[in-house]
Amino acid sequence: MYDPKSMKAEEFINHEEILDTLKYAEKNKHNKELIASLIEKARLCKGLSHREAAVLLECDIDELNQEMFKLAKEIKQKIYGNRIVMFAPLYLSNYCVNGCVYCPYHAKNKHICRKKLTQEQVREETIALQDMGHKRLALEAGEDPVNNPIEYILECIDTIYSIKHKNGAIRRVNVNIAATTVENYKRLKDAGIGTYILFQETYHKENYEQLHPTGPKHNYAYHTEAMDRAMQGGIDDVGLGVLYGLNLYRYDFVGLLMHAEHLEAVFGVGPHTISVPRICPADDIDVGDFSNAISDDIFKKIVAVIRIAVPYTGMIVSTRESEASRKAALELGVSQISGASSTSVGGYVEKEPEEENTAQFDRSDTRTLDEVVNWLLELGYIPSFCTACYREGRTGDRFMSLAKTGAIANCCQPNALMTLKEYLVDYASDETRKNGERVIAEELEKIPAEKVRNIAREYISEIEGGKRDFRF
Ligand code: SF4
Repeated sequence: MYDPKSMKAEEFINHEEILDTLKYAEKNKHNKELIASLIEKARLCKGLSHREAAVLLECDIDELNQEMFKLAKEIKQKIYGNRIVMFAPLYLSNYCVNGCVYCPYHAKNKHICRKKLTQEQVREETIALQDMGHKRLALEAGEDPVNNPIEYILECIDTIYSIKHKNGAIRRVNVNIAATTVENYKRLKDAGIGTYILFQETYHKENYEQLHPTGPKHNYAYHTEAMDRAMQGGIDDVGLGVLYGLNLYRYDFVGLLMHAEHLEAVFGVGPHTISVPRICPADDIDVGDFSNAISDDIFKKIVAVIRIAVPYTGMIVSTRESEASRKAALELGVSQISGASSTSVGGYVEKEPEEENTAQFDRSDTRTLDEVVNWLLELGYIPSFCTACYREGRTGDRFMSLAKTGAIANCCQPNALMTLKEYLVDYASDETRKNGERVIAEELEKIPAEKVRNIAREYISEIEGGKRDFRF
């Protein structure tokens, strides 16, 4: 039985409910009246149910699809303004005991070079990331209780937070590691992590089990219920995602929204972020082997409908996507992107030789951080290195209620501009700096409260004078 409040994976992600939803969406995909009414409902920024969103995803009436794209843009603008949060992944270890068929770190891959960073290497990688200007990381590691136990991850987090190189600092460490116990989630929370990210890969249980034939990740329920344990362990910012291309995208899209509804129903707070990765080529992984790989048009539609259906959730695209695809996704709802990512273990300090390739996937966007920042500025966005909400305790439902009342504009906008200013002073090229100063001057005027605007202006001039780390 479908029950969003159940703590059992197969009840809150219910196969029959997904199939019924897909039938309902198929039946109504030409129902102009219903679709138009759903678009109107979504305009209120209160989100849509998985059934309603599935109808929008299925709709193939061009004029209504254009309407959805327009609305996704409007919602994004209303909630996020022009701000785009920047981050980088940091790969700690590619040792892994699982058998995921789409990932080159799978245990049966005997030719991939296995690496695990020492604390000294973590230090060097962190400094390299700080020297680019990054303030927010997503830690990545394979699942291996011997090589990458929780103690190793915790030690790495401590090392990262302890390093202050020149004006650099990593101020928020998000963590993307395998499903674990409530006790371990508590330890991650105590170590000061931001978001706990775990991709479901696919919500289709049977396919999930085939795609994860061996290792602890084979256990569908344990993996699917991980966010509940993370919440029970005190982590109230969690990040969802499926790997589009593994299974029928429609099915996973509905499963993802049901997962968000479940978190909302049980914990009163939906996912902090949703990522939209697509299957990518990598070491022994050929995208051609995955017949469910999705086109650019479907990708854009998914991004737009997620934005409409879950308006307050941050949306992330990585360097899996090309510059053109990232541009389209930014217009339709994405609010966070990675920049200058290395998807290899130890790839920031030194480019690894071909024969030592440890990359989890091949990047489509290989630009430097300065190039990405300048590109965003030229597109009219504010690249933001802000980490204030989490450091001020605005997480979980506290963050969501601020976002829902729009009050976040008086925090996010000045924080984005102040952290951009830090970037411009400490790391930017002349051209980026020129563009950034122009954007700061324009965007300062958009801070709604006069008092906040004046304080932000003052702080920005103090940053020019050498002070750092102001926040609202
Ligand atoms: S996806 Fe994660 S768990 Fe699976 S093989 Fe890759 S690193 Fe291991």
